[in-house]
Amino acid sequence: MKEKTIIIIGAGFSGVFTAMYLSRKLSGNNHIKIKLVNKDPYFTYKTRLHEVIGGRIRPEEAIHDLKILFKPYNNVDIIVDEVKRIDEREQFVMTKSQKISYEYLVLAMGGEPNDFGIEGVSEYGFTMWSWKEAVRIRKHILTMVEQAAKETDPKKRQAMLHFVICGGGLTGIEIMGELIEWKPQLEKNFGLQTNEISLSLVEASPTILPVLPEKESQRVKTYFAENQVNLMTEASVSKVTFDSVEIRDQEPLQTYSLIWTAGVKATSDVADLAAEFGKAGRLKTLGTMSAQNMENIYVVGDLVHYEDKLGNPLPQNAQTAEQTAKTAAENIAAELLLEMKSTLHQNKQKGTIVSVGAKYGVGYLMDLVHIKGPIAVTMKHLVNLMTWGQMKSMSNLSKYLKQEMTASKSDRYLS
Ligand SMILES: Cc1cc2nc3c(=O)[nH]c(=O)nc-3n(C[C@H](O)[C@H](O)[C@H](O)COP(=O)(O)OP(=O)(O)OC[C@H]3O[C@@H](n4cnc5c(N)ncnc54)[C@H](O)[C@@H]3O)c2cc1C
Repeated sequence: MKEKTIIIIGAGFSGVFTAMYLSRKLSGNNHIKIKLVNKDPYFTYKTRLHEVIGGRIRPEEAIHDLKILFKPYNNVDIIVDEVKRIDEREQFVMTKSQKISYEYLVLAMGGEPNDFGIEGVSEYGFTMWSWKEAVRIRKHILTMVEQAAKETDPKKRQAMLHFVICGGGLTGIEIMGELIEWKPQLEKNFGLQTNEISLSLVEASPTILPVLPEKESQRVKTYFAENQVNLMTEASVSKVTFDSVEIRDQEPLQTYSLIWTAGVKATSDVADLAAEFGKAGRLKTLGTMSAQNMENIYVVGDLVHYEDKLGNPLPQNAQTAEQTAKTAAENIAAELLLEMKSTLHQNKQKGTIVSVGAKYGVGYLMDLVHIKGPIAVTMKHLVNLMTWGQMKSMSNLSKYLKQEMTASKSDRYLS
């Protein structure tokens, strides 16, 4: 039988799930090769990166060696390399070191930060989308606090101890939750006064957490107020400098630390494809997850622009990553095995849970149930455990249990 190759570019949630589902569906078909290409040798458990920033877990606990993760999937080749060019006409990809031809291509490269062209964001701000960026932010916070403890100029010291997050979506809120809990420990360990560290969150729209109902947004606002977070809504960042964040029609915030979570767009690696583009450079797909106009190219995860019957685009989250991966894998397998194709199954989201630190959280499930506090925290742990279960990685599941459920939530890493 003629050998056929499926290339998956990107080993985030969507790429990993696609490879695993394809591996199971196509096992025993030795003429079909599945190649998973990723820039780094590890899978980043992205939904835990805020825990890295706030010292809840050690940086290495949020990444997982791809070769170990895929050990049980022996029909998947892991290729650690960066794809530099996709030639959809000739059906090959060029990586830094090789040319690989394909019969099917799955684009799972996710997004990249969007600074909307605002002056100084990429130069002085700390964009937040990858593990490396999370580690950089964590180190920067520790350096700032350490240096501020020795600073005698009160204005400079205040600015050094002021941490500003721009963006009131999931990522920004989860990072703020970690900083709230890390703050007292940093103050104590570096000999600062209580509440010497100040935290601000700046959001351009009138509210925060737009993916959740107003009730959850209100709960988080209250939690922030109780924890002295300076929440600024309807506040648009207009410029970032070395030591300040300028906000339209308001006094600038003095800080050396702007964490930018305000915007994400599709990876620019797909910009040259002869595809149909949706919002923020994402690729329009059919319900099968194949790209519009490019039948043997499938799109999964954060890169997808697909609207439900009401015209709502899929959100960029872990559920979408898993569901689009499953649909794409089933349809590629169906074509290869000459079976019936299917369209996106459960494009109904099961709900969203936001952790606001290790001890607090909010969520809304099944368009019905509002949860908060310890219930939301527990549910979030269950979601992570279920994810490892879906990946059939019992070693990571038990490691997670050990890390999260037995560790003391007040003790955060300071190195
Ligand atoms: C701090 C934080 C908290 C979050 N919290 C939540 C949450 O609580 N719940 C939730 O549902 N979602 C959350 N999200 C969003 C969620 O993590 C994303 O929606 C999800 O990770 C998207 O998966 P993906 O596979 O599409 O992309 P990614 O996870 O971004 O993976 C893309 C992969 O492709 C690789 N890649 C890119 N370009 C190339 C190339 N040219 N060659 C080779 N490899 C390439 C990258 O290195 C990466 O490994 C959070 C995100 C962040 C950052």
